[in-house]
Amino acid sequence: MKKQNISKNILHWYDNNKRQLPWRRYTSIKQKKYFTLVSEIMLQQTQVKTVIPYFNNFVLKIPNLKSLSKVKDQKLLKCWEGLGYYSRARNLKKTAIKIINVFNGQLPSNEDDLKSLPGIGEYTARAIMAIAYNKKVIPLDGNVERVLKRVFNLKKVNEISKENLHKKKTFFGEANRSSDYAQAIMEIGALICKPSTPLCYQCPISENCKSFKKKDFEIVSINKLNKKKFFEVNIFQNNYKKYYLLKNQKFNFLKGMPIFPMSEISKVKFRNHVGKKINIKMSNMDMKIAIKNVKNCPLKKNGLLIGSNELSSWTLPSFTKKILNTVKKI
Ligand code: SF4
Repeated sequence: MKKQNISKNILHWYDNNKRQLPWRRYTSIKQKKYFTLVSEIMLQQTQVKTVIPYFNNFVLKIPNLKSLSKVKDQKLLKCWEGLGYYSRARNLKKTAIKIINVFNGQLPSNEDDLKSLPGIGEYTARAIMAIAYNKKVIPLDGNVERVLKRVFNLKKVNEISKENLHKKKTFFGEANRSSDYAQAIMEIGALICKPSTPLCYQCPISENCKSFKKKDFEIVSINKLNKKKFFEVNIFQNNYKKYYLLKNQKFNFLKGMPIFPMSEISKVKFRNHVGKKINIKMSNMDMKIAIKNVKNCPLKKNGLLIGSNELSSWTLPSFTKKILNTVKKI
């Protein structure tokens, strides 16, 4: 199917199936911008159905940017009460003040200016550009990422990077209704291309979907790829009971700090390992560590021999401490 036809199908589906959400019900361009700003901030970390009554009440009590910039904090927080993450409400007011004072009362239309506003990151900036300004950008939320990954059956790390997904918007052709188009992809992700059971027979792009053709709907995420890693740690003590550690050059974080010599191993080798096993969660990695006591260890230039009683004078990363505590108990 040609690109133009794909776009047409998507927009046709959207026109007939979109949800009637209150922020899609505006009476002027100015109001559309305000509604987009408020709804996108509310939708950060909160589901659509929870946001709807809060949005309705908010725009009734605080109907435009000017009133938002002047609203008393007590009234603002009352409108937000129960929605959680109250910093969003405070940032929204600060954003309104900055738009009035710095941007002449106009919600900015480019990514850099939008990101200079409190509480607006890359996703929200792109959502505002697409929805309020009809710019040809696709905001990458979880729903949109899922649709793109499935349409193109993307699995490898370089394929599922944000940079690569951003490029994929060209696949969807030249739609002059970019605002509806971005919302249509978001809506397909939310209503049809569901995480565990995609409703492909209702999907306007099934003919062009590689995952549908392969019947392979598994989604790979960068976090998941980073998640589990298996290591073997070598514990060596010399005749003076000094532990052998290395100044970390292996991991990008904690550079230069003492770690035990360790190497990544396969899941199978880890499973069959006879040594004591521990699990350490890092921010981007779930480290599964098997401990091996060794009689010899090739000494390296960045190696350190540290006695148990000297360890307290070193700043040790928490995973080195955890390994050490385990070793002492073995
Ligand atoms: S055809 Fe199925 S898997 Fe492909 S985008 Fe549509 S709902 Fe998702």
